[in-house]
Amino acid sequence: MANVPVHEWTLLEAARRVREKEISSRELTGALLARIEALDPKVHAYITVLPEAAAADAAACDEEQAKGALRGPFHGVPIGLKDIFCTRGVRTTCGSRILRDFLPPYDACVAEKVLGAGAVLLGKHNMDEFAMGSSTETSFFGPTRNPWDVSRIPGGSSGGTAAAVAAAMCFAGVGTDTGGSIRQPASLCGVVGVKPTYGRVSRYGMIAFASSLDQGGPIARTVADAASLLGVIAGYDRRDSTSLDLPVPDYLAAVERPVEGLRVGLPKEYYEGDGLSPDVRAAVEKALNALTDQGAIVVEVSLPHTSFALSTYYLVAPAEASSNLARYDGVRYGHRAEGASGLIEMMSRTRAEGFGDEVKRRIMIGTYALSAGYYDAFYGKAQKVRTLIRDDFMKAFESADVLLTPTAPTPAFRLGEKMDDPLTMYLSDIYTIPCNLAGIPGISVPCGFSTEGLPIGAQLLSKPFREETLFTAAGAIERALPLRRVAPLEG
Ligand code: GLN
Repeated sequence: MANVPVHEWTLLEAARRVREKEISSRELTGALLARIEALDPKVHAYITVLPEAAAADAAACDEEQAKGALRGPFHGVPIGLKDIFCTRGVRTTCGSRILRDFLPPYDACVAEKVLGAGAVLLGKHNMDEFAMGSSTETSFFGPTRNPWDVSRIPGGSSGGTAAAVAAAMCFAGVGTDTGGSIRQPASLCGVVGVKPTYGRVSRYGMIAFASSLDQGGPIARTVADAASLLGVIAGYDRRDSTSLDLPVPDYLAAVERPVEGLRVGLPKEYYEGDGLSPDVRAAVEKALNALTDQGAIVVEVSLPHTSFALSTYYLVAPAEASSNLARYDGVRYGHRAEGASGLIEMMSRTRAEGFGDEVKRRIMIGTYALSAGYYDAFYGKAQKVRTLIRDDFMKAFESADVLLTPTAPTPAFRLGEKMDDPLTMYLSDIYTIPCNLAGIPGISVPCGFSTEGLPIGAQLLSKPFREETLFTAAGAIERALPLRRVAPLEG
């Protein structure tokens, strides 16, 4: 361990070393800020870096510790947040021109909890505009690049967070997942990403995309790091009416549990299509072998409504987005078009200027799906299919404790490759979307590399509020397949 460079330490290792005064928070934070300065011009994982604020906060952590006070389990450890979480007095853009200069007057619950645990905020991570995308290319601030190959995308929409974690430009981060935006970039960047059960993590202060699907969750380099970070951000929050008042288990303790006797379901629909790359299939098979070698039992299950998930999602998510994004009208906050002659012109020009193409496409689809005369045919129907998709999962979980699937159909694709073809881009989330529709938890854990050396992730899904089972299975895969987690990127 002595030879591992500071930035490559795990989150838990960094926290322990600060706690045991082997390193000061100032030194630790300084090392990561230097790394961001050297590498982020290539990767562009950050929209905003906070060198002065982070250094000052690290110094404050050191002073408090000298007096014997620790803020929490991540005392003095630098992390980052997707720029979708409101941070008081720190610009929060959601990747959009319309919020380019937005300074929130309050912290999101997730930000409050992460900072309350003692973490030092390094900055805000790049993302697809309003979390709509699978490649981080729809960001108003320009794309993030995959640290494993900078000609490729990092996945999305939490691509900035996954790239920052993989490039060791933070010890961990929090992203959001509406249809795969934590798991898919985690998979493409070779790190661990968790989409918790809907209602597990408060959405208060997390800028809304599709409220019935959105959920915040950790992105980290190890399963244990992700488990400990989820332990910090999970829990009841009265400010989010969909937050559930259930105790937060000791997720970290679940990571080391044996998988002996664990029933691993393979949903046959996820392995049938010809869109699944052979490299991904082979890597996921290794993950399966890792589990069975340790005593897990394979069961075949069926999720018969899988083929309807994408179309269901692309009605529900845009419908909710069209409603949520109505608030950006130039009146209360955010961008306002100049020189308009009246209110209607001001609003329409503000929105025309402030939103990018993908966001406009979603607003139009959503508005259409919700319009009088079409509501029952589209939105109402989609809600019914959504229930069938959820029922499929509940049935599968009668015979399986976890489901194992690929996270994404292919490894990272090249920048620009899918930007002109939204439907192909939407297929990136074919394996991740059903989980959001069902409200169940999911994790992506690294399980191999493609022949070109690009990371591949396996997805595990479980029953609502059974994140512990995910950590147990992912921990077993991680132990059996020790893989490089920090991308070999030079400054
Ligand atoms: N890529 C999907 C979309 O564009 C999912 C995004 C997300 O999970 N935020 O909607």
